Amino acid sequence: MDWFEERLWPDWAQRIRVREVLYRSTTAHQDLIVFESPAWGRVLALDGVVQTTTMDEFVYHEMLVHVPLLAHGHAEEVLIVGGGDGGCLREVLRHPGVRRVTQVEIDASVIELCKRFLPSLSDGAFDDPRAEIVIADGAAFARETARTFDVAIVDSTDPLGPGEVLFSEAFYRDLRARLRPGGVMTTQCGNPVMRPDELENALARQRAAGFALVDYYFAAVPTYVGGNMALGFATDDLESRRLDAADLAARGVPAGLRYYTPEMHVASFAHPAWLVGRTGL
Ligand code: SAM
Repeated sequence: MDWFEERLWPDWAQRIRVREVLYRSTTAHQDLIVFESPAWGRVLALDGVVQTTTMDEFVYHEMLVHVPLLAHGHAEEVLIVGGGDGGCLREVLRHPGVRRVTQVEIDASVIELCKRFLPSLSDGAFDDPRAEIVIADGAAFARETARTFDVAIVDSTDPLGPGEVLFSEAFYRDLRARLRPGGVMTTQCGNPVMRPDELENALARQRAAGFALVDYYFAAVPTYVGGNMALGFATDDLESRRLDAADLAARGVPAGLRYYTPEMHVASFAHPAWLVGRTGL
């Protein structure tokens, strides 16, 4: 294979030159490939869609994690749904106040293969004593668990195959019921330039699930083709969305970040006019 071609969109594809295919298989849930590329380092793709690369993963993982954690301010119990590559887990564990991170991933092979072929993403996080890994469907876990959380992070694949259930109103309703007072949920909501309906549907379902505040913010991830990636932000604590950069900085931003800053946190919630027209936000 000289080129990996992503066919997420019917009329537009991205190609990434392949230096070496490191692993390829069909797990019980999805097709999985890891390859080395000159342009983006190591790349993980599931069902033919780029999930993460070692060169630009920090953008997505820092924004999906530090925005809710700093908006909350004193999270102790954190839930990650999906995130099998370990990037979100690594970022959550940078917060010393977090006592336990429960990660619910449907496909154990994603974790094992990412530890083996993309070790820089988890960077040892799966072995952290504060990390509890549950191999299960995130929707079933949210429906059945009695546990409660300060922050819930949904790092899912796109609404295709096993990931589809993680974009449902029922799932959002269950997750909201598991959030403690002041709780915040963030969700991977796709690329609105190509699929504005994906973002619109996710926001509408989060509102229908009862969240008092539903908003979204952006992260510029080069290998998520089509422009800025939209991330959903939902909470019943309106104050968590009103913080300015000084408030956020005062809460203690972890050292060593390469994309997240308090100023980026605030600015990332600015929306283009065309999307305000479509989402009302
Ligand atoms: N950053 C990527 C993106 O934005 O598309 C997502 C990365 S992560 C690899 C996505 C993870 O979600 C995968 O490990 C996949 O196995 C997991 N996943 C998909 N459906 C799931 C479900 N129903 N419950 C739990 N995990 C799920």
